[in-house]
Amino acid sequence: MSLVDLISPLDGKVFSQINSASAAETDLVIEKAAKSFENWKKVSPGDRAKLLRNFASVIDLHIEELAQLEVKNSGHTIGNARWEAGNVRDVLNYYSAAPERLFGKQIPVPNGIDITFKEPLGVVGVIVPWNFPMPIAGWGFAPALAAGNTVVLKPAELTPLTAIRIGELALEAGIPEGVFNVISGKGSVVGARFVSNPKVRKIVFTGSTDVGKTIMSGCAEQIKRVTLELGGKSANIIFADSDLDLAASNAPGAVFDNAGQDCCARSRLLVQRNVFDSFMEKFEVAVKEFQVIDPYQDNSQMGPLISKNHLSRVKGYLTDQTQIAFVGSAPSDEGFWLAPHVLIPNSLDDKSLTEEIFGPVVSVVTFEDEADAIKIANNSNFGLSGSIWSRDIGKAIRVSRAIESGNLSVNSNSSVRYWTPFGGYKQSGIGRELGPDALDAFTETKNVFFDTTR
Ligand code: NAP
Ligand code: MG
Repeated sequence: MSLVDLISPLDGKVFSQINSASAAETDLVIEKAAKSFENWKKVSPGDRAKLLRNFASVIDLHIEELAQLEVKNSGHTIGNARWEAGNVRDVLNYYSAAPERLFGKQIPVPNGIDITFKEPLGVVGVIVPWNFPMPIAGWGFAPALAAGNTVVLKPAELTPLTAIRIGELALEAGIPEGVFNVISGKGSVVGARFVSNPKVRKIVFTGSTDVGKTIMSGCAEQIKRVTLELGGKSANIIFADSDLDLAASNAPGAVFDNAGQDCCARSRLLVQRNVFDSFMEKFEVAVKEFQVIDPYQDNSQMGPLISKNHLSRVKGYLTDQTQIAFVGSAPSDEGFWLAPHVLIPNSLDDKSLTEEIFGPVVSVVTFEDEADAIKIANNSNFGLSGSIWSRDIGKAIRVSRAIESGNLSVNSNSSVRYWTPFGGYKQSGIGRELGPDALDAFTETKNVFFDTTR
């Protein structure tokens, strides 16, 4: 047993300790999940559905406890943390309908009958980052369990507490021992073992593009199935014909929510040149009103950043050469606080426009027309989210079709709805989570032909 300290972003103080598992401990848990798979896959669809609904109900009874834990461990605002715990419940409920609807096909063929089956994969390894510990865990484990797989889940080293509690609640809900396993530890130890241990048949990874590349090449060794949800540098495109008041008042939340530690953060703000001045005037008011305060307060819109290291990494983008348009406010207390920053980059190659900062920093650029907006938006290795603000429906449709990105919103900045697919183009990832098709990523299609001529 090797213990590591957990540090609260709110005050920088150690508030708990947690086991950091070894490779040997990881193997034991994987072994347990592999054994449990033999029984779990045989649980009848109706019973598996019932167990998942139970799991959702038990989470529902613990929303407040889980939310409080997340504020302490991750510095999320209490409003966000409640939504995040509720999202785990909702995603479990959504996929609890899946076991009884995991349909195959009957395909017309000569000389017989042909049927496809959706078979579970076995043990699924879910590797979760620190920025949204609860929802990202749920997007992996809920459909994985629904499809009949067992799960080993590794939370981020910095934010393991809610996942560990959810693991306990699964047992309380009657999910059999060994079916859903949470194991805390280092990515380079526990996560890497998920990739290399052949008993893990699939990896669901969410995190940085660099680690994603390592995981993908590790999985190649065994042709292990892999879904990757990686970084982003999403554009928020404001056309002159949009409702500028609405676009401006919503723009801070689009990038500063969760202190910008959001793969969908609209960290590039593209504003049509002829409305730049009036937009920026309204945007400045909204940024200055953005409530960066104690995250336990109900009206808090942003808390501190996750860690001292991450704070200094983000501050690295704010040098003497950086042109800052304006800055919001933040407490000067202990803890990893940083006020929202609005930058005007010197060129389109500026690293504030090309690299994922993952903090409360947005870079604003202007564009001339529709074609120019599309060109700038697509000038990125990433392609996760984005927003288009315009009252011209034809233009909004054209632009949303032209942008290379997995999740776009028109006259809205919301990217995630559990009913719809979520994932990235280009280096933002491979595969899609959530929505009606997520089960395909957790099953193999088996085709069986029955010869009726003999
Ligand atoms: P990260 O360093 O890539 O880590 C993500 C997870 O992978 C953590 O659990 C980490 O463990 C583990 N890990 C690290 N190295 C590993 C290895 N060699 N093998 C297996 N697992 C390993 O990312 P992060 O710093 O937690 O999160 C920030 C990044 O994630 C940002 O770039 C962000 O955009 C991206 N992200 C993307 C999405 C999306 O849905 N597309 C969502 C959230 C975040 P440790 O905790 O021990 O480091
Ligand atoms: Mg990391």
